[in-house]
Amino acid sequence: HAKQTGRNNCTFYEPAMNARAKLRLSTEAGLRLALVRKEFVLHYQPKIALASGKLVGVEALVRWQHPQLGLLLPNHFVAVAEECGMIVPLGRWVLRQACEQAQAWRRQGLPPLLMAVNTSPLEFRSAGFLAYLRQTLAETGLWPACLELELTENMLMHDGTSSDNLLQEIARLGVKLAIDDFGTGYSSLSYLTRFPIHTLKIDQSFVSQMSSSADDATIVSAVINMGKSLHKQVIAEGVETQQQHDFLTAQGCDEGQGHFFSRALDAAAFTRLFGPAAGA
Ligand code: C2E
Ligand code: MG
Ligand code: MG
Ligand code: MG
Repeated sequence: HAKQTGRNNCTFYEPAMNARAKLRLSTEAGLRLALVRKEFVLHYQPKIALASGKLVGVEALVRWQHPQLGLLLPNHFVAVAEECGMIVPLGRWVLRQACEQAQAWRRQGLPPLLMAVNTSPLEFRSAGFLAYLRQTLAETGLWPACLELELTENMLMHDGTSSDNLLQEIARLGVKLAIDDFGTGYSSLSYLTRFPIHTLKIDQSFVSQMSSSADDATIVSAVINMGKSLHKQVIAEGVETQQQHDFLTAQGCDEGQGHFFSRALDAAAFTRLFGPAAGA
Protein backbone atom coordinates (compact mmCIF):
# COMPACT_ATOMS: atom_id res chain seq x y z
CA HIS A 1 0.00 0.00 0.00
CA ALA A 2 1.02 3.58 -0.57
CA LYS A 3 3.04 5.03 2.26
CA GLN A 4 3.71 8.59 3.14
CA THR A 5 7.16 9.42 4.36
CA GLY A 6 5.84 12.07 6.68
CA ARG A 7 3.49 14.93 6.96
CA ASN A 8 5.79 17.40 5.29
CA ASN A 9 7.13 15.04 2.71
CA CYS A 10 4.44 13.99 0.28
CA THR A 11 6.22 11.22 -1.55
CA PHE A 12 4.52 7.91 -2.24
CA TYR A 13 6.52 4.65 -2.38
CA GLU A 14 3.97 2.79 -4.46
CA PRO A 15 5.70 1.30 -7.53
CA ALA A 16 2.48 0.62 -9.39
CA MET A 17 1.25 4.11 -8.78
CA ASN A 18 -2.16 4.72 -10.24
CA ALA A 19 -3.13 7.72 -12.30
CA ARG A 20 -4.86 9.35 -9.39
CA ALA A 21 -1.75 9.17 -7.24
CA LYS A 22 0.33 10.62 -10.05
CA LEU A 23 -2.10 13.46 -10.42
CA ARG A 24 -1.88 14.05 -6.68
CA LEU A 25 1.89 14.22 -6.79
CA SER A 26 1.84 16.80 -9.52
CA THR A 27 -0.72 18.74 -7.56
CA GLU A 28 1.41 18.67 -4.41
CA ALA A 29 4.44 19.94 -6.26
CA GLY A 30 2.27 22.52 -7.94
CA LEU A 31 0.78 23.74 -4.66
CA ARG A 32 4.12 24.97 -3.37
CA LEU A 33 4.85 26.79 -6.57
CA ALA A 34 1.33 28.16 -6.75
CA LEU A 35 1.68 29.90 -3.39
CA VAL A 36 4.95 31.48 -4.46
CA ARG A 37 3.49 32.52 -7.80
CA LYS A 38 0.37 33.91 -6.11
CA GLU A 39 -2.02 31.75 -8.13
CA PHE A 40 -4.57 31.38 -5.33
CA VAL A 41 -7.52 33.70 -5.27
CA LEU A 42 -10.49 34.15 -2.95
CA HIS A 43 -14.07 34.29 -4.08
CA TYR A 44 -16.75 35.63 -1.78
CA GLN A 45 -20.28 34.35 -1.29
CA PRO A 46 -22.83 36.62 0.38
CA LYS A 47 -24.76 35.63 3.50
CA ILE A 48 -28.23 37.15 3.65
CA ALA A 49 -30.44 37.84 6.67
CA LEU A 50 -33.66 36.05 5.74
CA ALA A 51 -36.06 38.36 7.58
CA SER A 52 -34.72 41.59 6.01
CA GLY A 53 -33.08 40.34 2.83
CA LYS A 54 -29.99 42.34 3.78
CA LEU A 55 -26.38 41.35 3.15
CA VAL A 56 -24.82 40.58 6.54
CA GLY A 57 -21.73 38.56 5.84
CA VAL A 58 -19.57 36.81 3.34
CA GLU A 59 -17.72 33.51 3.15
CA ALA A 60 -14.24 33.46 1.64
CA LEU A 61 -13.78 30.43 -0.66
CA VAL A 62 -10.37 29.66 -2.07
CA ARG A 63 -9.73 28.93 -5.76
CA TRP A 64 -6.57 28.11 -7.64
CA GLN A 65 -6.05 30.00 -10.88
CA HIS A 66 -4.04 27.21 -12.47
CA PRO A 67 -1.96 28.31 -15.48
CA GLN A 68 -2.91 25.24 -17.52
CA LEU A 69 -6.10 23.89 -15.97
CA GLY A 70 -7.94 27.14 -15.35
CA LEU A 71 -9.85 28.01 -12.20
CA LEU A 72 -9.78 25.02 -9.82
CA LEU A 73 -12.30 24.58 -6.99
CA PRO A 74 -11.15 23.46 -3.51
CA ASN A 75 -12.22 19.85 -4.04
CA HIS A 76 -9.31 19.59 -6.49
CA PHE A 77 -6.59 20.64 -4.09
CA VAL A 78 -7.65 21.17 -0.44
CA ALA A 79 -7.46 17.47 0.52
CA VAL A 80 -4.00 17.18 -1.04
CA ALA A 81 -2.91 20.37 0.69
CA GLU A 82 -4.05 18.82 3.98
CA GLU A 83 -2.18 15.58 3.35
CA CYS A 84 1.13 17.28 2.69
CA GLY A 85 0.85 20.08 5.21
CA MET A 86 0.63 22.80 2.56
CA ILE A 87 -2.78 23.68 4.03
CA VAL A 88 -1.00 25.55 6.82
CA PRO A 89 0.72 28.18 4.66
CA LEU A 90 -2.26 28.21 2.29
CA GLY A 91 -4.68 28.73 5.17
CA ARG A 92 -2.56 31.56 6.50
CA TRP A 93 -2.59 33.24 3.12
CA VAL A 94 -6.39 32.85 2.99
CA LEU A 95 -6.85 34.35 6.46
CA ARG A 96 -4.63 37.33 5.68
CA GLN A 97 -6.24 37.95 2.30
CA ALA A 98 -9.78 37.70 3.71
CA CYS A 99 -9.01 40.16 6.52
CA GLU A 100 -7.42 42.60 4.08
CA GLN A 101 -10.44 42.38 1.78
CA ALA A 102 -12.84 42.95 4.67
CA GLN A 103 -10.92 46.10 5.58
CA ALA A 104 -10.83 47.24 1.95
CA TRP A 105 -14.63 46.93 1.75
CA ARG A 106 -15.00 48.87 4.98
CA ARG A 107 -12.89 51.68 3.55
CA GLN A 108 -14.98 51.61 0.36
CA GLY A 109 -18.11 52.18 2.43
CA LEU A 110 -19.76 48.77 2.28
CA PRO A 111 -21.92 47.90 5.29
CA PRO A 112 -20.02 46.08 8.03
CA LEU A 113 -19.78 42.44 6.98
CA LEU A 114 -18.89 39.38 8.99
CA MET A 115 -16.02 37.75 7.09
CA ALA A 116 -16.06 33.95 7.40
CA VAL A 117 -12.94 31.87 6.74
CA ASN A 118 -12.83 28.08 6.47
CA THR A 119 -10.23 26.61 8.79
CA SER A 120 -8.80 23.15 8.31
CA PRO A 121 -8.20 21.08 11.49
CA LEU A 122 -4.49 20.82 10.64
CA GLU A 123 -4.20 24.53 10.31
CA PHE A 124 -6.07 25.07 13.54
CA ARG A 125 -3.77 22.68 15.38
CA SER A 126 -0.59 24.01 13.77
CA ALA A 127 1.97 25.70 16.00
CA GLY A 128 1.45 29.40 16.33
CA PHE A 129 -2.08 29.51 14.94
CA LEU A 130 -3.39 31.78 17.69
CA ALA A 131 -0.37 34.09 17.43
CA TYR A 132 -0.85 34.31 13.66
CA LEU A 133 -4.53 35.09 14.12
CA ARG A 134 -3.73 37.87 16.59
CA GLN A 135 -1.00 39.24 14.36
CA THR A 136 -3.25 39.23 11.30
CA LEU A 137 -5.99 41.12 13.11
CA ALA A 138 -3.47 43.63 14.46
CA GLU A 139 -1.74 44.19 11.11
CA THR A 140 -4.91 44.50 9.05
CA GLY A 141 -6.80 46.42 11.73
CA LEU A 142 -9.89 44.22 11.29
CA TRP A 143 -12.17 44.11 14.31
CA PRO A 144 -12.09 40.57 15.76
CA ALA A 145 -15.91 40.63 15.90
CA CYS A 146 -15.93 41.00 12.10
CA LEU A 147 -14.15 37.66 11.65
CA GLU A 148 -15.67 34.19 11.91
CA LEU A 149 -13.78 30.90 11.62
CA GLU A 150 -15.76 28.02 10.12
CA LEU A 151 -14.79 24.71 11.71
CA THR A 152 -16.11 21.19 11.23
CA GLU A 153 -17.74 19.02 13.88
CA ASN A 154 -15.23 16.22 13.50
CA MET A 155 -12.43 18.54 14.37
CA LEU A 156 -14.07 19.50 17.64
CA MET A 157 -14.50 15.90 18.68
CA HIS A 158 -11.08 14.57 17.72
CA ASP A 159 -9.23 16.95 19.94
CA GLY A 160 -8.98 17.04 23.67
CA THR A 161 -8.46 19.87 26.09
CA SER A 162 -5.80 21.60 23.99
CA SER A 163 -8.30 22.52 21.31
CA ASP A 164 -10.80 23.27 24.07
CA ASN A 165 -8.43 25.94 25.35
CA LEU A 166 -7.66 27.22 21.88
CA LEU A 167 -11.36 27.68 21.11
CA GLN A 168 -11.80 29.60 24.35
CA GLU A 169 -8.81 31.79 23.52
CA ILE A 170 -10.16 32.56 20.05
CA ALA A 171 -13.57 33.40 21.49
CA ARG A 172 -11.89 35.61 24.09
CA LEU A 173 -10.24 37.55 21.26
CA GLY A 174 -13.76 38.29 20.04
CA VAL A 175 -13.46 36.18 16.88
CA LYS A 176 -16.62 34.17 16.20
CA LEU A 177 -16.72 30.42 15.66
CA ALA A 178 -19.09 28.58 13.34
CA ILE A 179 -19.75 24.87 12.84
CA ASP A 180 -19.70 24.22 9.10
CA ASP A 181 -21.66 21.38 7.45
CA PHE A 182 -23.62 20.96 10.66
CA GLY A 183 -25.32 17.60 10.95
CA THR A 184 -22.91 15.64 8.78
CA GLY A 185 -20.10 14.97 11.25
CA TYR A 186 -19.56 12.36 13.89
CA SER A 187 -20.14 14.25 17.04
CA SER A 188 -21.92 14.69 20.26
CA LEU A 189 -24.26 17.62 20.66
CA SER A 190 -22.65 18.36 24.01
CA TYR A 191 -20.01 20.42 22.22
CA LEU A 192 -22.65 23.04 21.46
CA THR A 193 -22.64 24.10 25.09
CA ARG A 194 -19.07 23.08 25.87
CA PHE A 195 -17.44 25.24 23.18
CA PRO A 196 -18.06 28.95 22.53
CA ILE A 197 -19.85 28.39 19.22
CA HIS A 198 -21.60 31.40 17.70
CA THR A 199 -23.09 29.99 14.50
CA LEU A 200 -24.49 26.72 13.14
CA LYS A 201 -24.34 26.24 9.39
CA ILE A 202 -26.93 23.69 8.33
CA ASP A 203 -25.32 21.51 5.69
CA GLN A 204 -26.59 21.94 2.16
CA SER A 205 -27.43 18.24 1.86
CA PHE A 206 -30.36 18.76 4.27
CA VAL A 207 -31.41 21.98 2.56
CA SER A 208 -31.41 20.44 -0.91
CA GLN A 209 -33.57 17.50 0.23
CA MET A 210 -36.06 19.54 2.27
CA SER A 211 -38.78 19.71 -0.37
CA SER A 212 -38.59 16.03 -1.36
CA SER A 213 -37.90 14.51 2.04
CA ALA A 214 -40.13 15.17 5.02
CA ASP A 215 -37.38 13.79 7.24
CA ASP A 216 -34.87 16.34 6.00
CA ALA A 217 -37.39 19.14 6.45
CA THR A 218 -37.89 17.94 10.02
CA ILE A 219 -34.14 17.89 10.65
CA VAL A 220 -33.78 21.43 9.32
CA SER A 221 -36.63 22.69 11.54
CA ALA A 222 -35.18 20.88 14.54
CA VAL A 223 -31.73 22.39 14.03
CA ILE A 224 -33.22 25.88 13.66
CA ASN A 225 -35.23 25.45 16.87
CA MET A 226 -32.33 23.97 18.78
CA GLY A 227 -30.06 26.77 17.58
CA LYS A 228 -32.56 29.39 18.70
CA SER A 229 -32.96 27.77 22.11
CA LEU A 230 -29.18 27.70 22.58
CA HIS A 231 -28.89 31.32 21.34
CA LYS A 232 -26.86 30.38 18.30
CA GLN A 233 -27.01 32.09 14.95
CA VAL A 234 -28.38 29.61 12.38
CA ILE A 235 -27.55 29.82 8.68
CA ALA A 236 -28.65 27.47 5.91
CA GLU A 237 -26.11 26.60 3.21
CA GLY A 238 -26.92 25.80 -0.40
CA VAL A 239 -30.20 27.71 -0.67
CA GLU A 240 -31.10 27.40 -4.35
CA THR A 241 -34.85 27.92 -4.70
CA GLN A 242 -37.60 30.32 -3.67
CA GLN A 243 -39.35 27.39 -1.99
CA GLN A 244 -36.31 26.63 0.17
CA HIS A 245 -35.94 30.32 0.97
CA ASP A 246 -39.60 30.61 2.02
CA PHE A 247 -39.53 27.46 4.15
CA LEU A 248 -36.36 28.52 5.98
CA THR A 249 -37.73 32.02 6.55
CA ALA A 250 -41.00 30.63 7.90
CA GLN A 251 -39.05 28.36 10.25
CA GLY A 252 -37.18 31.37 11.63
CA CYS A 253 -33.75 30.54 10.21
CA ASP A 254 -31.58 33.64 10.66
CA GLU A 255 -29.57 33.62 7.46
CA GLY A 256 -29.20 31.94 4.10
CA GLN A 257 -26.37 31.39 1.68
CA GLY A 258 -26.59 29.84 -1.74
CA HIS A 259 -27.14 30.25 -5.45
CA PHE A 260 -30.65 31.60 -4.84
CA PHE A 261 -28.94 34.78 -3.61
CA SER A 262 -25.60 34.64 -5.37
CA ARG A 263 -22.73 32.37 -6.28
CA ALA A 264 -19.29 33.09 -4.90
CA LEU A 265 -17.88 36.11 -6.74
CA ASP A 266 -14.41 37.51 -7.17
CA ALA A 267 -13.71 40.64 -5.14
CA ALA A 268 -14.28 43.01 -8.06
CA ALA A 269 -17.65 41.47 -8.96
CA PHE A 270 -18.69 41.43 -5.31
CA THR A 271 -17.82 45.13 -4.99
CA ARG A 272 -19.77 45.98 -8.17
CA LEU A 273 -22.81 44.13 -6.85
CA PHE A 274 -22.77 45.21 -3.23
CA GLY A 275 -20.61 48.35 -3.16
CA PRO A 276 -22.04 51.81 -2.46
CA ALA A 277 -22.16 52.66 -6.17
CA ALA A 278 -24.56 49.73 -6.68
CA GLY A 279 -26.97 51.38 -4.27
CA ALA A 280 -27.18 48.14 -2.31
P1 C2E B 1 -18.13 24.88 2.54
O1 C2E B 1 -17.33 25.68 3.48
O2 C2E B 1 -19.26 24.10 3.08
O3 C2E B 1 -18.58 25.91 1.41
C1 C2E B 1 -19.79 25.82 0.72
C2 C2E B 1 -19.60 25.28 -0.69
O4 C2E B 1 -20.87 25.17 -1.33
C3 C2E B 1 -18.76 26.17 -1.61
O5 C2E B 1 -18.10 25.30 -2.52
C4 C2E B 1 -19.83 26.96 -2.34
O6 C2E B 1 -19.40 27.51 -3.56
C5 C2E B 1 -20.88 25.91 -2.53
N1 C2E B 1 -22.22 26.48 -2.68
C6 C2E B 1 -22.66 27.68 -2.27
N2 C2E B 1 -23.96 27.85 -2.55
C7 C2E B 1 -24.37 26.73 -3.17
C8 C2E B 1 -25.63 26.30 -3.72
O7 C2E B 1 -26.65 26.99 -3.67
N3 C2E B 1 -25.65 25.05 -4.26
C9 C2E B 1 -24.56 24.26 -4.31
N4 C2E B 1 -24.69 23.06 -4.88
N5 C2E B 1 -23.36 24.63 -3.81
C10 C2E B 1 -23.27 25.85 -3.25
P2 C2E B 1 -16.55 25.43 -2.84
O8 C2E B 1 -16.17 26.88 -2.95
O9 C2E B 1 -16.25 24.54 -3.97
O10 C2E B 1 -15.85 24.89 -1.52
C11 C2E B 1 -15.99 23.55 -1.12
C12 C2E B 1 -15.39 23.33 0.24
O11 C2E B 1 -13.97 23.55 0.23
C13 C2E B 1 -15.92 24.27 1.30
O12 C2E B 1 -17.18 23.83 1.76
C14 C2E B 1 -14.82 24.17 2.34
O13 C2E B 1 -15.00 23.03 3.14
C15 C2E B 1 -13.59 24.00 1.49
N6 C2E B 1 -12.89 25.29 1.39
C16 C2E B 1 -13.18 26.36 0.61
N7 C2E B 1 -12.32 27.37 0.81
C17 C2E B 1 -11.46 26.93 1.76
C18 C2E B 1 -10.32 27.52 2.43
O14 C2E B 1 -9.95 28.69 2.21
N8 C2E B 1 -9.67 26.75 3.36
C19 C2E B 1 -10.07 25.48 3.65
N9 C2E B 1 -9.39 24.79 4.58
N10 C2E B 1 -11.13 24.91 3.06
C20 C2E B 1 -11.82 25.62 2.13
MG1 MG C 1 -17.60 26.95 4.94
MG1 MG D 1 -20.46 24.07 4.53
MG1 MG E 1 -20.46 21.93 2.60
